[in-house]
Amino acid sequence: MSSETLFSKIIRREIPATIVYEDEDVLAFKDIAPQAPVHVLFIPKNEIIPTLDDLQPSQAHLIGKLALAAAEYARQEGFAQDGYRIVMNCREDAGQTVFHIHMHLLAGAALGHFGT
Ligand code: 5GP
Repeated sequence: MSSETLFSKIIRREIPATIVYEDEDVLAFKDIAPQAPVHVLFIPKNEIIPTLDDLQPSQAHLIGKLALAAAEYARQEGFAQDGYRIVMNCREDAGQTVFHIHMHLLAGAALGHFGT
């Protein structure tokens, strides 16, 4: 499955982004409209999966790679001990706006409980 997204253009460096991490499977960059002092998006580089609901069993490892990259970033940046939040929004009711699966990493402040 493959369709062009805004994040595809960031992967190809066709639009600017502050890239903070990259390996063969994962790209991470700062969110353009941060909702916390640290707000980084982790995306798969080689497969465009529109939503979590579209994830196939053969692609499950990609979610682990996003999570491991986020955890490593938190350790390297020195806030892993303080804590952080990982969020994946799926479709409209969750507020998903970019249909290229991504993991939000939010940190840098006491985030409080959420759900509303
Ligand atoms: P979603 O709402 O789909 O879960 O998350 C998409 C995120 O992408 C939003 O937090 C939004 O601020 C971010 N975003 C949208 N356009 C751009 C962009 O051009 N550059 C960057 N760095 N982030 C973007």
